[in-house]
Amino acid sequence: MAVQSTAAAATQSATVSPESPGTSPSADAGYGTSFGPAAALSCRECGTRFPLSPIFACQECFGPLEVAYDLPLGDPDELRRRIEAGPASIWRYAPLLPVPADVAERPNLNPGWTKLIKADNLARELGVTGGLYVKDDSGNPTHSFKDRVVAIALEAARTFGLTTLSCSSTGNLAGAVGAAAARAGLRSCVFIPHDLESAKVVMAAVYGGELVAIEGSYDDVNRFCSELIGDPIGEGWGFVNVNLRPYYGEGSKTLAYEIAEQLGWRLPDNLVIPIASGSQLTKIDKGLKELIALGLVEDKPYRIYGAQAEGCSPVSAAFKAGHDVVRPVKPDTIAKSLAIGNPADGPYVLDITRRTGGTVEDVTDEQIVDAIALLARTEGVFAETAGGVTVGVLRKLIETGQLDPAAETVVLNTGDGLKTLDAVAGTGPTATIRPTLSAFREAGLA
Ligand SMILES: *Cc1c(COP(=O)(O)O)cnc(C)c1O
Ligand SMILES: [Zn+2]
Repeated sequence: MAVQSTAAAATQSATVSPESPGTSPSADAGYGTSFGPAAALSCRECGTRFPLSPIFACQECFGPLEVAYDLPLGDPDELRRRIEAGPASIWRYAPLLPVPADVAERPNLNPGWTKLIKADNLARELGVTGGLYVKDDSGNPTHSFKDRVVAIALEAARTFGLTTLSCSSTGNLAGAVGAAAARAGLRSCVFIPHDLESAKVVMAAVYGGELVAIEGSYDDVNRFCSELIGDPIGEGWGFVNVNLRPYYGEGSKTLAYEIAEQLGWRLPDNLVIPIASGSQLTKIDKGLKELIALGLVEDKPYRIYGAQAEGCSPVSAAFKAGHDVVRPVKPDTIAKSLAIGNPADGPYVLDITRRTGGTVEDVTDEQIVDAIALLARTEGVFAETAGGVTVGVLRKLIETGQLDPAAETVVLNTGDGLKTLDAVAGTGPTATIRPTLSAFREAGLA
C-alpha cells in the first residue's frame, strides 16, 4: 500500500516551521529560498529524502520522487487571509508551493484561479441533488489545466539554470510549455505524437519554439524523451514532466486549493478527475490532505473518482479487476489528451480511489461526444474531449449507483472544446436559408 505510507509521510512532512516559509533553514538545500517552503525531494515508495535538484527517481529504489515541505503550521486564519489577499492566480498559494516568494513578479503566464461554476442545470439533468460544480480549467492562458503544472516546473528550471524547456506531450502540455518558455525568454523544444488534433499542433508551434512530431504513440514519445535526458544532447534541458516531474506535479495541487477556497474553505464530498498519467489525480489528493493538515479546512471524508476513455482505460480495467498494478494498453480514443497507455501514476491512482471510497470508470467515444453536448447545452461550457470523459463518467457513476447524487460533487473540465473540434464535427447550423422571413418560416423556425 505504497500511497498509504506516503500519506503518512506527507503528513509528517508538514512539520511546524517557526519562521515564515522561505526563511526556514531546512528550506535551504543549496538554492537558498528559491523553493519557498519546500524542504526536500522524498521517495513515494521508501521515504528516502534527497536535496531539491533536477532528479525524479529514488537513488535507493527507483521510486518516484515528490516535493516534501516544512509547511507553515501557524494560525490557519492568518494563512487564509494571506492567501485571500494574494493574486488571482495559482500564486496566491505560493506559501504552499515550491516557488520563491516573489514568484508572481517573474515573467510567467499567471495561470489558475479559474471558475468554479455552480452547475444547477446539469445537476437537474443528471439527478444530482446535493450540489454540482464544474471546475472549468479551459479558462487558463493556453486553455487547459497544463498551465498550472508548467508554471511550477518553469520556476524549477530557472532555479536549476536549465536553458531549454521541453516535454513529451499528448497535446495540451506542448502548448503550455511553448507559451511559458516564450514569456520567460527560454528556448523550448517539445515532442508530440504525429497524429494529434490540428488545433493542438498549431498551439504547440505558434509560440515560436521547436516542435517535433514523433512517428509513434505518446508512450513512444515519452520513451524517446527519457533517452534524450540520459544522453549528453539533453544537457541543460528541463523536461517538465520527466526530470522536473516532482515540481510539475505540485501545480495540480492548486486545483484542490482553489476548489476548497471557492467553496468557502471546505471540501466537497466527491471529485471526478480525468486520468492520463494519473499525476493530476494524485496531486489533487495531496493538496486536499495538506489543506486538512494545515487546518485551512475542516477534516472530512471525500471520495475521488477517476475518469478514463474506454479506448485507453488501463487504470479503470485494473480497478475493476481488483489489481494493484496497471497493465499497459495501446490507446485508441478521441480523448487524445488522456491517451497514455502506460500511466506512470496508475498504481497510486488505484490506491487513492480505493482508500477514499471512490472508483475508476470509463466511457465510450460516443458517450464522450454526448457528454460534451450535454455540458454545453446545460451550462454553456464547451469542453474538450477530456471534459466529455469526466462528465460522461459522472453520468455513468450516477446511473450505476457508484456515486451518491445526494452528495456534493465537483467535476473537472480540464480543457477547451475549441481544441478538439473534430469530436463534434457533426454540429452545425439548424438550417441554411435565404435571407427572407418566408424562408425562415418555411424552415419551421418561426
Ligand atoms: C494532461 C491532461 C490531463 C491529466 O493528465 P495527468 O497526466 O493525468 O496529470 C487531463 N486533462 C487534460 C485536458 C490534459 O491535457
Ligand atoms: Zn525509494
